[in-house]
Amino acid sequence: MDNPDVKVLLDMSQFAEVEFDERYCAFSIGAGATLGQVYEALFYGWGVTVPGGGCLGVGVGGHFSGGGYGPLSRQHGSVVDHLYGVEVVVVNAEGKARPVVATRDNQYKDLWWAHTGGGGGNFGVITRYLMRTAGATGSDPAKLLPKAPGQLLSSLVLWDWKTVTKAGFIRSLRNFFTFYERHNTAGSPYDSLYSPLLVPVSSTDGFLLSTQLDASVPDAEKLLKAFNAAIAEGVDPAPTAIEVGARPFMHTTIERSIPELVTPERNLWKAGYLRKGYTDAQLGTIHKYLTDPAGRPQNATFLLVPYGGKVNTVRPDATATFQRDTVAKMVMNIVWSDPAEDAKHADWTRKFYRDLYATTGGVPLHDEYNAGSYINYPDLDLADPAWNTSGVPWQTLYYGDNYPRLQRIKAKWDPRNVFHHSMSITKP
Ligand SMILES: Cc1cc2nc3c(=O)[nH]c(=O)nc-3n(C[C@H](O)[C@H](O)[C@H](O)COP(=O)(O)OP(=O)(O)OC[C@H]3O[C@@H](n4cnc5c(N)ncnc54)[C@H](O)[C@@H]3O)c2cc1C
Repeated sequence: MDNPDVKVLLDMSQFAEVEFDERYCAFSIGAGATLGQVYEALFYGWGVTVPGGGCLGVGVGGHFSGGGYGPLSRQHGSVVDHLYGVEVVVVNAEGKARPVVATRDNQYKDLWWAHTGGGGGNFGVITRYLMRTAGATGSDPAKLLPKAPGQLLSSLVLWDWKTVTKAGFIRSLRNFFTFYERHNTAGSPYDSLYSPLLVPVSSTDGFLLSTQLDASVPDAEKLLKAFNAAIAEGVDPAPTAIEVGARPFMHTTIERSIPELVTPERNLWKAGYLRKGYTDAQLGTIHKYLTDPAGRPQNATFLLVPYGGKVNTVRPDATATFQRDTVAKMVMNIVWSDPAEDAKHADWTRKFYRDLYATTGGVPLHDEYNAGSYINYPDLDLADPAWNTSGVPWQTLYYGDNYPRLQRIKAKWDPRNVFHHSMSITKP
């Protein structure tokens, strides 16, 4: 409990069971489970999976209710596109607590909807999630969630900071965006392609693109080679591509994920959705911040994550996850351990983000290029007029047009505002 505003901490870690619930014909996942526990239980039990994130220690309590995305999202959508229901303990106007099971087809549909991207800590204590893909029918559990890929083909593309020029940097990132803009259709041969571009500051050796593709896709090897060639096109000197070959799904998932951290570090996250690749001016800003020897910190990473595809086939109001026409997410992250460095690192990250979105008030507005941000990367600066000079409220950046509906659901299900934090949904 590292924040003085926190009044109550509920340990949900014992609510970690993953089982098939015949009554609801859905997978029941305890809200205290971690993604690592969920992936293993679903895969070894039924050969299925959910398109969740690439950090095995992340808890589903916040991850699912905030939307949830990961390596399989371009092919299978957001996690909440597979959320059938939620069991949540709510508190009524008299202060009495009771459990409710809200599903996408019962009388509590509004409460279910609020958990499809509204974010944790808003409506009640979630005790479990019920997972079944929208539109899935029958009673065979193996057909009610996405089938896990058998093998994943993977590769790495490596850039050496010592040889990367500014022009080569900009061209590499441009190639990344161009490729995903051209291959952003659900059902295309590339819809299982996932390749986060991880760019740490230039005091490190270099940066890399870590790619995976379902090995059972026809011509998978050819497709992967063509992708790596497209990324390197016009980049001088060319980055090095290493083909890793095909490996079993769980092997690659564990190998490519961030393991659970046991030593908590201090860190800061900022993020944004992209409808289109950044402009050359923005790519220049990214290069400047990552390479400036006077300003760059030790342990900061700029991450571009492919997104869209199947996610974009769902209407923005069908779930509370509003962003349904994007191509990527950007995440910047800085990690440090000495509290005396808090101000220095916060300042660098804030200025980087402000300058990246310099033409839109320091934030990713919903416009031709950007689409706000993701509530699972909550960022108080978006609520601070010193850093968000756009005049657009932080709630709009996260929830777009879905915010008023979330507010009405909040008023109905948490009339006493029992569940609140510094970025929670407020009553209308
Ligand atoms: C290293 C790292 C990698 C990440 N990678 C990804 C990624 O690939 N994809 C992605 O989508 N996201 C990713 N995230 C973001 C992640 O989805 C969010 O941090 C998410 O909120 C984590 O949920 P949690 O339950 O672990 O966290 P917590 O901090 O415990 O919870 C987050 C919020 O949800 C609330 N909450 C938690 N449990 C419950 C519950 N049972 N009932 C009601 N409210 C609850 C909390 O009160 C809090 O407000 C990553 C985060 C980290 C730290």
